[in-house]
Amino acid sequence: MDLLNTLVDKGLRRELPTREEALAVLATSDDELLDVVAAAGKVRRRWFGRRVKLNYLVNLKSGLCPEDCSYCSQRLGSKAEILKYTWLKPDEASKAAAAGVAGGAKRVCLVASGRGPTDRDVDRVSKTIEAIKEQNEDVEVCACLGLLSDGQAERLRAAGADAYNHNLNTSEATYGGITTTHTYADRVETVQQAQAAGMSACSGLIAGMGESDADLVDVVFSLRGLDPDSVPVNFLIPFEGTPLAKEWNLTPQRALRILAMVRFVCPDVEVRLAGGREVHLRSMQPLALHLANSIFLGDYLTSEGQEGKADLAMIEDAGFEVEGAGTTTLPQHRADALAEAGGSACGGHGGGGCGPCGDGGAESAAATGTAAPAPAEVPAPAGEVRTDLVAVRRRGAGTDLPPNA
Ligand code: SF4
Repeated sequence: MDLLNTLVDKGLRRELPTREEALAVLATSDDELLDVVAAAGKVRRRWFGRRVKLNYLVNLKSGLCPEDCSYCSQRLGSKAEILKYTWLKPDEASKAAAAGVAGGAKRVCLVASGRGPTDRDVDRVSKTIEAIKEQNEDVEVCACLGLLSDGQAERLRAAGADAYNHNLNTSEATYGGITTTHTYADRVETVQQAQAAGMSACSGLIAGMGESDADLVDVVFSLRGLDPDSVPVNFLIPFEGTPLAKEWNLTPQRALRILAMVRFVCPDVEVRLAGGREVHLRSMQPLALHLANSIFLGDYLTSEGQEGKADLAMIEDAGFEVEGAGTTTLPQHRADALAEAGGSACGGHGGGGCGPCGDGGAESAAATGTAAPAPAEVPAPAGEVRTDLVAVRRRGAGTDLPPNA
């Protein structure tokens, strides 16, 4: 297919596809799916080989959020029966992080619900970062604490945070239909603050919220413009008790096409297969490893993933390898650019946030004056309703049960 040959050539040269080309990837048929995966896989292997970076989420503070992000089980008014707890102590968080590192994680993502941290919260998280780094000198730490105020990014960087996650989640035009308590512009600003402080930026999206193909392309092009080092691709986990509980819009094939489109638009960026992979890709998960070079190990913030051992077996069976702690995730040109900006050149970046799991951050209609997400020009096929695959997390951080890692 001419389209795919063109996209591979551009991906190998780190050249941006056109919007039309990105839309055309999303419009390919199921008969063309393996060709699309093979083409995007060439780009993935050019920049990341067969390596898979593992990231591990620690939910420092769960539920009770005053924000109203429609997709989030921790939102204001959520009826989802998730774990609710306030800040983990540094030693508790460090213990949870150690389980992920022992399971092979190279990065720990420290996430807290809420609009954004107070200065006291930044102190707490700084102590937690220090506790984690004392035990695991080489581990990368990403903080995801919501919207940052002046000076907070610098303080987190000084405390040892390597990266900061804040997802854009969806297109600017659809933000108002998803969240009313903060704006798309707020989110962009926080990503830029993190970058200015020398942290590696991680910012991604959530697919499956009723958005159109054009919205997906918009948010991915916006992300490319922001130039984060990692882009988590979440697939909505439609939690019962949230406004988007009935949004089962994704098929495994569509999820793969979305990942391929992200890879073509962001060829040399860490593309992370994030929340919702088990729910929406199901038995097709191994194919996604040809597109993404990074995944979360084990559980998500408020939902359970497949067993950590199953993640490792899947990677091995699919012919990929877990990226070692001594390996630089990013291609050299990106690692060098990050080091010049004042960040650690240790490699990959980002992930999580109140949004790395199909249940994280969003934006405001009040600011954008926009309506609910527009329907796709060509409606995507309805996905299968698999509420049986949505399991509220009952183990790990905030419980007495061992974590899944
Ligand atoms: S995504 Fe973050 S800010 Fe939004 S409701 Fe959930 S925890 Fe709160």
